[in-house]
Amino acid sequence: MHDLLIRNALLLDGLGSPTARGDLAVAGGRILAVGKADGAAKQTIDADGLALMPGIIDNHTHYDAQITWDPWVSPSPALGVTTAVIGNCGFTIAPCRPADRERVMRNLTQVEGMSLDALRAGIRWDFQTVPQYLDMLERRGAAVNIAAFVGHSSVRTYVMGDAATERAADDAEIEAMRNIVLEGVRAGAIGFATSTSPAHNGADGRAMPSRAADEAELAALVGTLREHGRGVFMLTKGGHTTMEFLERLAAESGRPVVVAALLHNSTQPDGVFADLRAIARANERGRRLAGAVSCCPLAMDFTLHSPYTFESLEAWRPVLALKGSDHQQRLADPAFRAAVRAEIARPGHFRLFNGEWDKVQVVESRRRQLEGRTIAELAAEAGSDPLDCMLDLALAENLDTVFSALLLNSDEKAVARLLADPHALVSLSDAGAHLTFFNDAGYGLHLLGHWSRELGALTLEQAAWRLTGQPAALYGIKARGALVAGYHADLLLFDPRTVERTANRRVFDLPSGASRLTCGAIGVHGVWVNGQCIADAKGMRAREPLPGRLLRDFAA
Ligand SMILES: [Zn+2]
Repeated sequence: MHDLLIRNALLLDGLGSPTARGDLAVAGGRILAVGKADGAAKQTIDADGLALMPGIIDNHTHYDAQITWDPWVSPSPALGVTTAVIGNCGFTIAPCRPADRERVMRNLTQVEGMSLDALRAGIRWDFQTVPQYLDMLERRGAAVNIAAFVGHSSVRTYVMGDAATERAADDAEIEAMRNIVLEGVRAGAIGFATSTSPAHNGADGRAMPSRAADEAELAALVGTLREHGRGVFMLTKGGHTTMEFLERLAAESGRPVVVAALLHNSTQPDGVFADLRAIARANERGRRLAGAVSCCPLAMDFTLHSPYTFESLEAWRPVLALKGSDHQQRLADPAFRAAVRAEIARPGHFRLFNGEWDKVQVVESRRRQLEGRTIAELAAEAGSDPLDCMLDLALAENLDTVFSALLLNSDEKAVARLLADPHALVSLSDAGAHLTFFNDAGYGLHLLGHWSRELGALTLEQAAWRLTGQPAALYGIKARGALVAGYHADLLLFDPRTVERTANRRVFDLPSGASRLTCGAIGVHGVWVNGQCIADAKGMRAREPLPGRLLRDFAA
């Protein structure tokens, strides 16, 4: 007898094949039959034309810390995600010595917008090495399957201590790091992740450790993947990291390279397409490179207490470590403002904010009449400069004014082109991070609803492949990401006529009561991980034991 029989569904196999009406049977956590399935089942669902696809593989999350107190990795399961890759950009919490915990948490607070109080109250530190962290994940379980990167910044801090943020590594340090990365991938990490992006600053405004690495160090560490014969190298790329260098790493290691974050910038409209052309040429030469793109506009809520939006600017750096009145004085300083204005006026690569003041809005102010107005409008009315206008407003309200900026990826024609690129990987949900700034954990539902149904930018079959079969193949995730007999039963049942994510709302449910943005699903009827239902039309279903597995065995 089957455990589950879903009848009369619109089957999207995750490989891009044309949809077909049919049934799917599950037994022992695996797909038993697809197309025609007979026999009795403990549970039978008449899908009545709903669509059934493999569960979404979210390849860019930051659940490394959250998963230690919330194995449900909320809100991803209710949004159709059945596998999450953690440790992106190299911002992991392992390896970590007890003496470095505070430093690692303070870095995460800054770089990924996580509440320090939540991290202090929440993280369960019963590990030090990467293998111990993986064992802990396996022992505790999770609602979805998890695959974890070895993270460069943590490895660097482990080996170099304070110097990790300050200088290049010497040969002995590189050798020690190599051993840790190799130990991690041999224990079952999915690859190695790093960042060279100027947007990534840690505690007190210091560059995240990986940004201090030189090319020799990166080449040595990525070289471990050649030795291991498996694994993916992912990086969030700064402007000075060239595509030629990344292609060389792909060639030397023989492993796939995922290049993030290819977000469209309206003030530099060809930038991402030039990167994708370079990636296409590398693929023609036999390398495996993919460009991580997003199907969501990058919008961020911020206050001037810690405006992630501006913190990647060189001219903003002196402010990052300041507190209280020193901080406010500097924000009022004409010389500081002049430096920020001058930098924004220069062309920049992968910069979050590019002077589009018409896309910066007041969201919450003591002067309610300002809410909903843009900084461009308010500055024009007052005859003032927009930067002065924003900073003066914030300073008058003790920096509590909430702004929202539509930063990147808001040109739908351009984003449609990104989503159609054969070497693009739909990615960058950043689930588990930037919790108060934005939340794109529902990116998969947005791809299916907005981009496929509403705009027709890609067919439903292509959208399903982008979310499942494509990442499974690139990351070497075995027997998942497709509706194939014998594969694990990771499934998403949804209504293609309504599927979408809801708008974000703010909740205060983090350890210590800190807030985050969250959203729900529209049109999702069921989510199964290894054959167990974890969410239905009413949202997440609490259920023990947790069905997700730690994935440790990847294809060569
Ligand atoms: Zn990230």
